[in-house]
Amino acid sequence: MAERIGIIGGGIVGIAIARALAAGGGTDVTVLEKEHRVAAHQTGHNSGVVHAGLYYQPGSLKARLCARGRSMTREFCQDRNLPYRELGKLVVAVTNDELPRLDDIERRSRENRVPGLRRLTAGQLREIEPHVAGVAAVHSPHTAVVDYAAITEALADDVRRAGGKILLGQEVTAVAPGAGTVTVSTTAGTHDFDRLIVCAGLQSDVVARMVGATPSPKILPFRGEYWSMAAGRQDLVKGMIYPVPDPRFPFLGVHFTRGVYDDVHVGPNAVPALAREGYGWGRISLRDTLESLRWPGAPVLARQHWRMGAREISASLVKPLYFQQARRFIPELRPADLAAKTAAGVRAQAWDKDGSLLDDFAVDQVGAVTLLRNAPSPAATSAMAIAEHVLEHHLGMPQVP
Ligand SMILES: Cc1cc2nc3c(=O)[nH]c(=O)nc-3n(C[C@H](O)[C@H](O)[C@H](O)COP(=O)(O)OP(=O)(O)OC[C@H]3O[C@@H](n4cnc5c(N)ncnc54)[C@H](O)[C@@H]3O)c2cc1C
Repeated sequence: MAERIGIIGGGIVGIAIARALAAGGGTDVTVLEKEHRVAAHQTGHNSGVVHAGLYYQPGSLKARLCARGRSMTREFCQDRNLPYRELGKLVVAVTNDELPRLDDIERRSRENRVPGLRRLTAGQLREIEPHVAGVAAVHSPHTAVVDYAAITEALADDVRRAGGKILLGQEVTAVAPGAGTVTVSTTAGTHDFDRLIVCAGLQSDVVARMVGATPSPKILPFRGEYWSMAAGRQDLVKGMIYPVPDPRFPFLGVHFTRGVYDDVHVGPNAVPALAREGYGWGRISLRDTLESLRWPGAPVLARQHWRMGAREISASLVKPLYFQQARRFIPELRPADLAAKTAAGVRAQAWDKDGSLLDDFAVDQVGAVTLLRNAPSPAATSAMAIAEHVLEHHLGMPQVP
């Protein structure tokens, strides 16, 4: 009998794993997704960037799987006629005191073999982005933009064509690992599997607790809010313009992105969300908020990052403060150029008991259950490579390259 494998979560990671399993044959794959469509959470609410691997610790899972995932994503999009645009990315130092951190990014990018990477002077950077002010930059010409929701739909079509099932509107409410079988209860019934893979994004710690795994790391939801650029002013941005990131913080800072459909957006910032799926300040979950406040690492995180947190929250509530962050890069920017707040996304950032934020992708194994416990950016870029990694290192099913 074919091995029965259940996957919780119909985001890009769960669907990519389902596709790799279904393509290999010999398994009976079922994805359980609580929403009525795939890609309903992080996968459908992100910047759409295919990262080229500039920032990640050389040798880390992020560095390795991002590089492999980028080429797999490009090939998949070409094959399926899905949009894939290499608009290129600049990381811009606006002042001289940012140059040592730009040097670090350049060094790391070279260790990660980011293709085509170049260091640019102020004059050279303006040849690429004429409206940007900066003293120097690094340029990654192969950083691309895509539509991750469309990619996930296409991956899901492959799963169904290969005989796998994607059951929508089925929220997993309990998991009972037993001898040889894992029984999963959902809002629509129960399923028995030989193995289970959890790719539940913002809910991954909630499902981990159902499985009996350690409560740490916990998910700390961080909302990222975007502003759209006014029509008629979108020419200020040709590709992607990023700040030099602050290494103490896991997010990249507010940036400009020309999307795959030529929409230009500014963002995302990073504010603590008051609910796991809290897409605006009005969405509050007392349970999620209290859980975060009571977490043993909360005082440490608050002490380390209160200044940055206060700045991000103020900029979320007061448009001129958000505008100031953006205008550092484009002095011609006017307040009215940030036309409207658009759909936000909420990042699932894993947070340890000691207050530290996990940097690398993290996969745990508890008996027959494989748990993706930290799959933040660049997990959309890396999804197909994460699938290969899980099959090879956790399920003992090496993939033919
Ligand atoms: C604002 C923002 C910008 C980002 N930008 C980029 C970028 O430009 N490039 C990049 O590579 N990455 C980016 N990321 C990161 C990327 O989007 C995520 O790393 C990736 O989408 C994670 O995919 P996932 O499948 O793990 O999670 P998700 O897409 O969140 O999927 C998890 C799924 O599990 C389901 N689920 C949860 N609990 C249950 C349950 N009990 N029962 C059934 N189903 C359940 C959810 O409904 C959801 O559909 C960004 C993220 C955000 C939020």
